[in-house]
Amino acid sequence: MLLLLRFDAKTVREPIISITAIKTGALINILRADVGARRGEIIVEVPDEKAKEVEKTIAEMGVEVHEITKTIARNDNCVHCGLCVSICPTEVFYINGDEKIELRVEKCIHCGSCIGVCPTNALYFPI
Ligand code: SF4
Ligand code: SF4
Repeated sequence: MLLLLRFDAKTVREPIISITAIKTGALINILRADVGARRGEIIVEVPDEKAKEVEKTIAEMGVEVHEITKTIARNDNCVHCGLCVSICPTEVFYINGDEKIELRVEKCIHCGSCIGVCPTNALYFPI
């Protein structure tokens, strides 16, 4: 299962992943981490059988936890600039015959790289 973790200045300096791994015994795979001085956002992959225990442990540390049940999505802000095509490691994006960008969402591994480069904030993870 994929979990999106959001935390603020109170928890940003806590080793929440290490603490959770030790407490639950779960193997936690970090797919994306965007951590600043005042806030952070991490996407982790955890074994399904450990997911509820991991969610509870992380939430108890004051971290916002969301299950990611859907893959990358795009809104109407897309201007088909193509920046996401070159950054995606799994070739989710491609150019169709009309020179428009299309998505093969089933190939997404939730790395988040495309979200950061999109100039119009068209890409997001629905939660
Ligand atoms: S980077 Fe954003 S605006 Fe550009 S093609 Fe991709 S989704 Fe569209
Ligand atoms: S999140 Fe990563 S794998 Fe998924 S579409 Fe964006 S760049 Fe590709």
